[in-house]
This record gives sequence, structure tokens and C-alpha cells, in this order.
Amino acid sequence: MITEEAALAHVLESVRALPPRRVSLFQALGQFAAGDVVARHALPGFDNSAMDGYAVVASSCRKGQSQRVVGEQPAGIDRQLHVAPGEAARIFTGAPIPVGADAVIMQEDVRREGAEIFINSEVESGEFVRRRGSDLSEGQKILGAGQRIGAQTLALLASQGLAEIEVGGGVRAAIVTTGDELVPPGEPLRAGQIYESNSVLLHALFHKCGVTDVSITLCPDDASAIESALRTGLQHDVLVIVGGVSVGARDLVKPALTAVGAQTDLWRVSVKPGNPFLFGRAGSTAIFGLPGNPVSAFVTFLLFVRPAILRMVGAGSGDLSLPKEEAQLTDGIENKGDRPHYVRGWLGQGKFTPVGRQESHALYGLSRSNALLRLAPGETFSGGATVSVLNLA
Ligand code: AMP
Ligand code: MG
Repeated sequence: MITEEAALAHVLESVRALPPRRVSLFQALGQFAAGDVVARHALPGFDNSAMDGYAVVASSCRKGQSQRVVGEQPAGIDRQLHVAPGEAARIFTGAPIPVGADAVIMQEDVRREGAEIFINSEVESGEFVRRRGSDLSEGQKILGAGQRIGAQTLALLASQGLAEIEVGGGVRAAIVTTGDELVPPGEPLRAGQIYESNSVLLHALFHKCGVTDVSITLCPDDASAIESALRTGLQHDVLVIVGGVSVGARDLVKPALTAVGAQTDLWRVSVKPGNPFLFGRAGSTAIFGLPGNPVSAFVTFLLFVRPAILRMVGAGSGDLSLPKEEAQLTDGIENKGDRPHYVRGWLGQGKFTPVGRQESHALYGLSRSNALLRLAPGETFSGGATVSVLNLA
């Protein structure tokens, strides 16, 4: 059995970043920037008003005194107004500050009588003026190559006038499930059957890696059906086969991979849950065989498939593994086995609590967990110990 470190190293050596592509900002959420992006417009782009009110020369304003209104400056057009001491311009939020003015008085702080305003408050220079470049300067880096694009970054890119962005390659993925006992949700269940839950799990995990082009094929334990699904799967960048990779008579995936001309690089990794994990290749397709038990499929996807996908979609090399966080263990825990054990648990308020049954079929406990604790073989922690956990959020 190969160690998880060696398995991951081999998987990562075997995959490459796909060529970048340009996508609309509306398709870029969760994708990875293909290159650095530098601001080409300052923010704000011009001095403008933070309030509806009156633009004035602060030094000429005294509480109780009047100023003469010389014009109106709405947002969206620059009327190139001039304001001299003793004068004011009606102004609205986002409108350019007239030449000569250096402050805006909120409309709530003035009383207007005809062409005059009477000021009810003190006025300071710069008040309610949003200065050009005070938020962001031209030339400032706003996004780094390999960085994930979130909603906030999308807004910033739009503020630069960009409608599209260059992101890492669009991975095309195929999921093939195997098992005579599996029934798609929504259909009636007969005795001895179970609902198929791995395809939706893996589909969601692919989406979390920024991969949205994912096909799904459900196969019975039938060699020719599996071979045919694998042939179609090999037309994708990534093929994930789940179930049927163990050592039983109904585990048909390994011979089917050989039959379709794929090479198996490694099989069986020393990790719990997830031991029967398989990695192979055919042409430029990376092939992952995951154990059918849902918790094993989940853990092995995160340990081995996720980093490979992230590399393919252009994530920075420092971002390939799950983020780590320190937490205080609520209960003592021990790994009596000879494989590293990934314990599912709940991370909250700095504490980690193992959740539910720690067995590879125990989907309910998995559904309640948001973090994994890795216990090395023989490792023991007492309650209250500080541990480093993998955050699944
Ligand atoms: P296998 O890896 O094919 O030996 O399957 C191990 C266990 O996982 C069995 O109890 C299967 O019924 C279950 N299993 C396999 N594939 C799925 C799936 N797609 N959805 C839910 N359970 C599955
Ligand atoms: Mg099976």
C-alpha cells in the first residue's frame, strides 16, 4: 500500500494546468485568475459627493450664514460648475464636485429659501467629498494569478470596465458510478436497493473546485456497461469512477480500465477511510477510482482529486490543500489502526468535536461535519489538546 503523501505527489506530477480562457464576469465566480490584473481606473475616478446636499467653499461657511445657490450638479454628467466663496451648488450623491468647492453640506443641515441656503452646522474642508483615487489608484494590483475570484472581486473587476476575465482552463469532468444496488433518487426503491448518493456529492465537490462541466453516468455491475461508460468518460479531462474499485468479485473497474486501454498508476492508499483509491491515465485524461462508501468517496476526493483539479484550473500552488485551522479538541481521541484516520467533526468557536459514527458508510455524521482531523497511526490526543484540523467550508 502506498502512503497518502506519495500518492498525492504522483497525482500532482501527472496533471497540468489547462490553457486559460476568457469568460464573462457572470461566469467567473469561483474560477482562478490566469494572470495578474492591475487597476486601469482610479476609484473613485473623480472627486464626487457622498451626499445629496450643497457643494460649498468650507472656509466661507459659518453656522447661520447664507450662501447663494449658483447651479445644480446631478450625477451622470459634468456641468463644469464653478463655486466661489459665498456660493453653493445643489449636488447629488455621486455627482462631480464643482471647481472651487471643497466640501458638501448635507441637505438635512441647510434651510433653503429661494436661491439661498442657510447653514445649520459647521462645515469642514473635505466633508462628504469622495476624493479621486482615495480607494484605489491606477496601476495598483487588484487580482493575482492563481487567486480565486469571489463576488467582491467580480464587483471590483466590473468597476474597472472589464466585462470579461482570463481564467484557468475549463476542466471537463465525467463521473461514472457503479453498483447493481443503486437507484437514482426520485425512483421507487425495492428491497435490497439503496439510493445513489455519490454522483450528487461528487458533482457538488467539482463545483466547489470551479468545475461546472460535469457529466454523470450510472452503471450496473456489468463489465460491458462499465467499459462503454469509461470510453465516453475518457473523452473528458478528468474521469472519476466510484465504487467497484475494491477486491471483490463484483469490483469490475480495474479490469474495465485495462480493457479500454487505460493505465493504472497506483491502487490502494494507506488512508482511512478510502483505502481502495485508484489513480490512472489514458492519453491526457486523469482517472480516479474512488471507493463507493460515501465517506470514503468524500475524503479521497478531497485528499487526491481536489488538489489535481485545482492545479488543472490554475489555482496557485499554495492553495491546493484544504485550509488548516487550530482548534481545541473537546474529547480525547485515539487512532488504534495502522493507517492515518480522517475523523469527521464539527469546528466552531475554536473547538473541534467528532460527529456521528466514524465509519465509511456513515453519511449522517458526514452531513453534520465541517472539518476533518487527521490522526496519524497510533496518535492519541487528550480532551482539551490543541489540534490542527482541515476546514471543509
Ligand atoms: P463498492 O466500493 O462498490 O464496494 O461499494 C461500497 C459501498 O458503498 C457499498 O455499500 C455500496 O452500496 C455503496 N455505494 C457504492 N456506490 C454508491 C453510490 N454511488 N451511492 C451510494 N452508495 C454507494
Ligand atoms: Mg459496488
